[in-house]
Amino acid sequence: MKQILAIDGPSGAGKSTLSRALARSLNYLHLDTGAMYRAVALAAIEAGVPLNDPEGLDKLCSVIDIKLKDEPDGLVVLLDGEDVTEQIRTPEISIASSNVSAVSEVRRQLVRLQREMGAQGGVIAEGRDVGTVVFPGTRAKFYIDASLWERARRRHEELKEKGADDTLEQVMAEIEQRDKNDSARSDSPLRIADDAIIVDTTYMTPEEVVKYIAEKVRELEKD
Ligand code: C5P
Repeated sequence: MKQILAIDGPSGAGKSTLSRALARSLNYLHLDTGAMYRAVALAAIEAGVPLNDPEGLDKLCSVIDIKLKDEPDGLVVLLDGEDVTEQIRTPEISIASSNVSAVSEVRRQLVRLQREMGAQGGVIAEGRDVGTVVFPGTRAKFYIDASLWERARRRHEELKEKGADDTLEQVMAEIEQRDKNDSARSDSPLRIADDAIIVDTTYMTPEEVVKYIAEKVRELEKD
């Protein structure tokens, strides 16, 4: 039977690369929950809603339309019908998404949407709380981690490829800040679910991680 895969972990651990590859290899949908928090952050900045205003953000979440589309070239994020895939990947939106994600009203609305999207199974749900809060009942739960230095290095490479000129130190500071925000917030902080399989990818290639998890999922599919 097709599963709901929950993939949690800190920023830059390689969850997105892994989820994309797994979605392709298992023919599952990629439910990138972080992209949804990013889309809310972008919408708030565009609408001039302060990132710590629960009421304003609650209202905003009830009127915006966020859609995730799996395309052959990767995931496309639509905000009110507009393709914002690239726009939501800047360091500014990274920090802003971490801020709006601490607001319970935002989480409540996005979690509802994520559960609807995953209702049929066959999804790779990636984020910070998918195994602990969004889909706590799923058996396919993974916590993807890597050292801070390695996570910063990978994110720095990714940004460099896109032409950004952030230094490694800047990227590391941003990741550290988000780690702190995500772990310290009172609503659904980043934590390892008791029944999650922990995968430290510091010394693993992306291919090794995909192979390891795909094998585990295929075992679960047999039950
Ligand atoms: O995974 P990504 O880096 O795109 O997530 C952006 C931000 O959204 C994270 O820093 C985190 O604060 C927030 N987030 C969250 N819960 C999730 C997914 C992301 O709080 N399930």
